Amino acid sequence: MLSGNYKELYDRLVPIIDRNRIWHDPLHTLAFGTDASFYRLIPKMVIKAKNEDEVSLILEESSRLMIPVTFRAAGTSLSGQAVSDSVLIIAGSYWKKAVIEEEGAVIRLQPGLTGKEANALLAKYGRKIGPDPASIDTAMIGGIAANNASGMCCGTAQNSYQTIVSMRIILADGTMVDTDTLHIAAWNAVLAPMARQIDAAFYKARIMGFDAASTGAALFPDATRSAHLAYCDAKEAAFRGMVGTLEPTAGLADLLDWADSQGLKKAVVTNAPRDNALLMLRGLGWADRFPVLVIGEELAHGKPHPLPYLTGLQQLGASAAQAVAFEDSLSGMRAAVAAGLESVGIATALDPAALRGVGASLVVRDFTDPTLLRRLRALV
Ligand SMILES: Cc1cc2nc3c(=O)[nH]c(=O)nc-3n(C[C@H](O)[C@H](O)[C@H](O)COP(=O)(O)OP(=O)(O)OC[C@H]3O[C@@H](n4cnc5c(N)ncnc54)[C@H](O)[C@@H]3O)c2cc1C
Repeated sequence: MLSGNYKELYDRLVPIIDRNRIWHDPLHTLAFGTDASFYRLIPKMVIKAKNEDEVSLILEESSRLMIPVTFRAAGTSLSGQAVSDSVLIIAGSYWKKAVIEEEGAVIRLQPGLTGKEANALLAKYGRKIGPDPASIDTAMIGGIAANNASGMCCGTAQNSYQTIVSMRIILADGTMVDTDTLHIAAWNAVLAPMARQIDAAFYKARIMGFDAASTGAALFPDATRSAHLAYCDAKEAAFRGMVGTLEPTAGLADLLDWADSQGLKKAVVTNAPRDNALLMLRGLGWADRFPVLVIGEELAHGKPHPLPYLTGLQQLGASAAQAVAFEDSLSGMRAAVAAGLESVGIATALDPAALRGVGASLVVRDFTDPTLLRRLRALV
């Protein structure tokens, strides 16, 4: 029987996630309370997640309710990594997609494929994935990557960490990060002084998955090998510097410029801890751009309670009728709607229908949407 925050989490998830994939009964929780280790923890809830939207939602709501989560792929971990006495998220059977690129030099894998299945896909190219744990027939990519699985042949030269080119990562607050974008940006930072830049197509075709020498040759065919390596070193330095930087959602920078030109006031209203919010704003280079920063956890109630938005309005000296909220999360959307703001859903992580379901008056993919821009201009 669920109670307290766990009951609240369940109630928030069942409108979106099929309740047949959320278990809290004694049989299922006992069954998922073991992995290949000698530890046993009985989870309060086991959720079989189907897609990124669901994982994002579970993480966002769990983070807000301070509920720890653990992921499980095949559960062959030997040190208790895949057991939990809180919430266990299974990313297995629904996560089986794979895309082969570069004649098998690169393979994009969802976390639910087993290592054996990945190697079967690569076999016709005469290739295999780097890591070769003895458990490869059962172990899945999510667990192989997270455990940095190794094996008798790959050693430390071709283990998971050494052979991953990029990842789509959902952060603990539900935010999606795609590291490809950062790699492209890092190369463009190196190329900018030469008035050159690359796009995603060039990156995928000529850089992604290639070693430093090949990458350097693709970008600088006339340069020497030592120059290739120096350029790659410069790119890696730029990449490391950028891990703390972020790409704004398309159109947002232009929208903020427009808002400034109209003399409109702006606030950030978030449930993220202050340090994280500042990190994000600094990463975007926008630390000074928002004079009002409201942190939900510093108030008596965070989102989905309306208080953070009402506090933001008060600090801006504005009424709800004069304001528009932009939200990409369900709890945020609920908070904005409850505070009486016109609320626009940004469907970067969640399904548009889910955002509409909690009151978004308009849902757009990003800030370049012409309907959004028309509506905002009409309001000013
Ligand atoms: C008989 C046997 C032989 C083994 N041989 C080896 C070996 O040779 N080399 C070796 O390195 N290991 C070995 N292992 C350990 C284990 O099998 C591997 O580390 C394997 O890669 C774990 O994969 P899994 O799918 O079972 O992951 P799980 O055990 O389910 O999870 C492993 C970790 O990954 C995390 N995780 C899973 N999915 C995700 C996701 N989608 N997102 C984020 N985190 C996620 C989990 O939270 C957990 O921390 C062996 C185990 C057994 C039982």
